[in-house]
Amino acid sequence: MAQACPTLTLHELADGVYVWLQPGGETGVANAGAVVEDDGVTVIDTLMVRSQWEPFAAAVRGLGQPVRRVVLTHAHIDHVGGTKAFPHAAVYATKPTSALLDQTMPLEAYKAFMPAFDAEFDDLAETGTRPVTHEVDGAAPLTPRVELLPASGHTTGDLLVLVADADICFAGDLCFFGVTPLAFQGDPATWADMLDAVIELADTIVPGHGPVGGEPDARDLQAYLRHCVAGTIPPGPWDAWVERAERDPINIERAALLAAGRDEVPPSMLRASGL
Ligand SMILES: [Zn+2]
Repeated sequence: MAQACPTLTLHELADGVYVWLQPGGETGVANAGAVVEDDGVTVIDTLMVRSQWEPFAAAVRGLGQPVRRVVLTHAHIDHVGGTKAFPHAAVYATKPTSALLDQTMPLEAYKAFMPAFDAEFDDLAETGTRPVTHEVDGAAPLTPRVELLPASGHTTGDLLVLVADADICFAGDLCFFGVTPLAFQGDPATWADMLDAVIELADTIVPGHGPVGGEPDARDLQAYLRHCVAGTIPPGPWDAWVERAERDPINIERAALLAAGRDEVPPSMLRASGL
């Protein structure tokens, strides 16, 4: 079940394994993490706008160790916006994530899709993000404690971060707990299948959005995604999730497009982005 960890603070889940959770978990409000080892810190995701990543980066600096590595679970802006806060770290991500970070930021779409952060996006565009320095193209140990596992489902370039000795998986946006997932660039069918592997990896799962959880939370998400593929969503635990009204049509449309062989952004997502 979801764990009630404190938010907006570096909370130590296990020895040297920290989460920085943001309450709510809605669009633009993601989680991050940090793993401390002998040579320094590995940061996992970097949040989005300055008001989010500045306090996170300050808390990481407060650990008193150099930040050697930043791992990006995927390219969505609410996970990569704060990379400049860690200027000396190597940046690890998959090839699709690297390619997306090399593109110009779609500033107007961000403003339309996430109006709550409207005032901060100009600063984000000016600050920019760092390019990926190390592309990850297969499952590999990153450090003695941290393993990287490429995946797909939420995007084509998802990356799971496993700390096996602590039985903790940082799932990025392959897991949304208590929050409706968003699959506009994903594949709900693949995503649902991929969750079997995520559940096998670790008992404790840190999602990209929402509180820390585990298998029951991932199973609820899996069931929701399979209903999206089927085209209708019956009553269920997802009735308590935020952003259902906005995201159900996007997820259902995306699954239907893929089933028809059309790898396209759903029209409902384009409308939500003002395009
Ligand atoms: Zn995402």
